[in-house]
Amino acid sequence: MGQIDQETMDAVVAFHGHLCPGLLIGVRLAKAAMEALGEPRAKDEEIFCIFENDSCALDAVQLLTGCTMGKGNLFLKDYGKQVLTLAVRPSGRAVRVVFTGDGLKPTKEDGTVDREGFIEVLTERDDGELLKVEHRSVAPPPRARIFPTIFCSVCGEGVMEPRAELMDAKPVCPGCRAEEA
Ligand SMILES: [Zn+2]
Ligand SMILES: [Zn+2]
Repeated sequence: MGQIDQETMDAVVAFHGHLCPGLLIGVRLAKAAMEALGEPRAKDEEIFCIFENDSCALDAVQLLTGCTMGKGNLFLKDYGKQVLTLAVRPSGRAVRVVFTGDGLKPTKEDGTVDREGFIEVLTERDDGELLKVEHRSVAPPPRARIFPTIFCSVCGEGVMEPRAELMDAKPVCPGCRAEEA
């Protein structure tokens, strides 16, 4: 598996459900970013990441960096770019890793992308051929907050207080508001 150890490969494929080029791009971005930053996997919010694409790559990034949607230390920018910024709180010391390997996508005789060939490129080539790594600093976003739960006056289900809105002075959850609209 060239640049990716078998244990990592097994873990990301088990989590994501299949092996695909996007997943491998995420593995390469995450490994390079963690190495360049010199920090271990995030336990809490001491490490955070900004990822610029809602693609398959994001699953590998979440698993390997420990920056996840659930923990609140993953900030998704829907820019359609395979770019990962990994950073430390509170200093904002960061690395930004850009996937630059699109030009190495092999094509078949009919001009379509050779998926298996691209998977090989993504597992075998050196970081220098696939990635650009920059050291920079970013302003840390606010930490994740925990809000009290209140109860929706329509469905009775619990909802995070700032997500509920008052209608006729009674709290209504976003789900019930959507159904009413
Ligand atoms: Zn995939
Ligand atoms: Zn409701």
